[in-house]
Amino acid sequence: MRKKIVAGNWKMNTTPVEGVELAKNVVAGRGEVCSCVDFIVCPPFTHLSEVVKVTRGSGIAVGAQNCAAEAKGAYTGEVSAQMIASLGVEYVILGHSERREYYGETSKTLNAKMEQAYANGLTPIYCVGEKLDEREAGKHFDVVKAQLEEVVYNLTEEQFAKLVVAYEPVWAIGTGKTATAEQAQEIHAFIREVLRARFGAKADDTAILYGGSCKPSNAAEIFAKADVDGGLIGGAALKAEDFLAIGKGFSK
Ligand code: PEP
Repeated sequence: MRKKIVAGNWKMNTTPVEGVELAKNVVAGRGEVCSCVDFIVCPPFTHLSEVVKVTRGSGIAVGAQNCAAEAKGAYTGEVSAQMIASLGVEYVILGHSERREYYGETSKTLNAKMEQAYANGLTPIYCVGEKLDEREAGKHFDVVKAQLEEVVYNLTEEQFAKLVVAYEPVWAIGTGKTATAEQAQEIHAFIREVLRARFGAKADDTAILYGGSCKPSNAAEIFAKADVDGGLIGGAALKAEDFLAIGKGFSK
């Protein structure tokens, strides 16, 4: 049985005080959602320590939104995977399209970040997804395949067993446009095929999350699809009520 995961990417939102409040509200409402759903909250670095404290023992895990490609040293402004893991953080989002687009993250950087994440016991949530022009040109399968082959194919089987993948079409992120459930299923099934080509049947155990304007009103339809194992949620993760309601969207 694959994990069912709802992960919240808070991006650069909330002050630490507001973030702790949000995390407390998620903890308070968690009991209303099936314990079969794994919730993860990914606040900014500045909030991680406090959010780990308030979520401890609640069944809500904490993730970071990024980590450095290097282990330590003269890299002003960077935050290492070791620093993150030492706080009790369990996950790290890597390869988000905003990191690829605004901070020039390439597969080379992402390979190094993945290594750092695994070396420090963090589970990566590796994001893939095409831009609007790529989808319109019918290149979305090629784009996503390359993002997987250039990074995920370099993992060992042991590392792959821990991986979470998030498919996030860039044209659906923060735009209010959502992929249809059919579009999501089509490409999630394709992602699983690409993973199967390298890792065999182990790919059947990989959680593949959908991300892109996912909200309480559309989550159930998308999550009902065979190869969609949950969501990576941006805007709707900033309201505890909506974030938890998305978790109620599982019917399988
Ligand atoms: C995201 O950026 O990971 C995301 C899915 O954002 P949103 O839900 O706001 O589209």
